[in-house]
Amino acid sequence: MYDIEEYAAAASLADALNRLAARPELKIIAGGSDALLKIRDGKWAGCALLSIHGLPELQGVAMDEKGDIEIRPLTTFGQAAEDTLICRHLPLLAQGAASAGGPQLRRMGTIGGNICNGAPSADTAPALLCLNAVLDLRSAGKSRLLPLNEFYLGPGKTALEAGELLCGVRIAKEDYQGYHGCYYKYSQRRAMDIANISCALWLKSIDNAVADIRLAMGVAAPTPIRLPQTERALQGLPLEQGQKRIANLVRQEIQPRDSWRASREFRLQIAGEIAARCFAAACDKIQGGKADVSNR
Ligand SMILES: Cc1cc2nc3c(=O)[nH]c(=O)nc-3n(C[C@H](O)[C@H](O)[C@H](O)COP(=O)(O)OP(=O)(O)OC[C@H]3O[C@@H](n4cnc5c(N)ncnc54)[C@H](O)[C@@H]3O)c2cc1C
Repeated sequence: MYDIEEYAAAASLADALNRLAARPELKIIAGGSDALLKIRDGKWAGCALLSIHGLPELQGVAMDEKGDIEIRPLTTFGQAAEDTLICRHLPLLAQGAASAGGPQLRRMGTIGGNICNGAPSADTAPALLCLNAVLDLRSAGKSRLLPLNEFYLGPGKTALEAGELLCGVRIAKEDYQGYHGCYYKYSQRRAMDIANISCALWLKSIDNAVADIRLAMGVAAPTPIRLPQTERALQGLPLEQGQKRIANLVRQEIQPRDSWRASREFRLQIAGEIAARCFAAACDKIQGGKADVSNR
């Protein structure tokens, strides 16, 4: 049933990077919730697996002295949904993580796996795009920082190079301080279902006008995307006008596809609606309310 040729567990981050340098064809496995499906479906038939599961260097969430936050890749959905720093400063990411799968999946699936899987429906991707997340990518003797916005190349395709490991996800203080927002996942069922369409919105307001807005969507294109045209059109508008315009702007910008889960027309309709709900919830939070539009 599972065609695995070889399995090894890395003893440390350095060990993982050295093994990958020697054999870049090794398949990395973290929580395994996507990897095991790929093996069972035959896409990774006969693979040699390198497990990073449990490596302490790749776990935890921390804030540095500047206030920047680093989320290490083995942070599970469940940990992210309950982490104090994430819940306080990055609530839209906590909502994204909380909306994934069911309890077993949230205990197993990691943020790193959710990013590296490259799925258009990844529940943490829209929030991380709004937060201008930067990826810390390392291979033996080399490291680079890559904005998440440049990481996605197509459905299931990313800029991760052979032998490279995602070692951290960084969010700068200026990308969360003063913002309000949320994540909304629209799926057929309220649990154990991937998104038909999803939206994260992050809003900063001055004098009841849009000072900065970031909007990202899942399943609205072949990869998770930011919506720069909509963001530009809303910039500077009074909040009330922004609320009236956002749904149509979103529908004009995104390119969802037809699939057995939902038609393109249905996704366009829902996309405008959930963006408007996220905008309303962000405005409510700016005004001191406690609106929660999450569908979970
Ligand atoms: C029943 C079920 C329900 C699901 N529901 C949802 C859902 O509601 N929402 C959602 O977003 N996803 C869902 N998923 C998909 C999956 O659980 C997530 O994408 C999860 O975050 C994957 O994490 P993982 O640690 O299990 O990844 P793995 O399966 O271990 O790895 C996934 C991919 O990422 C690579 N990878 C992992 N970590 C790293 C790293 N640090 N560096 C480089 N490459 C790495 C692996 O090589 C592999 O290609 C579901 C999956 C299942 C089986």
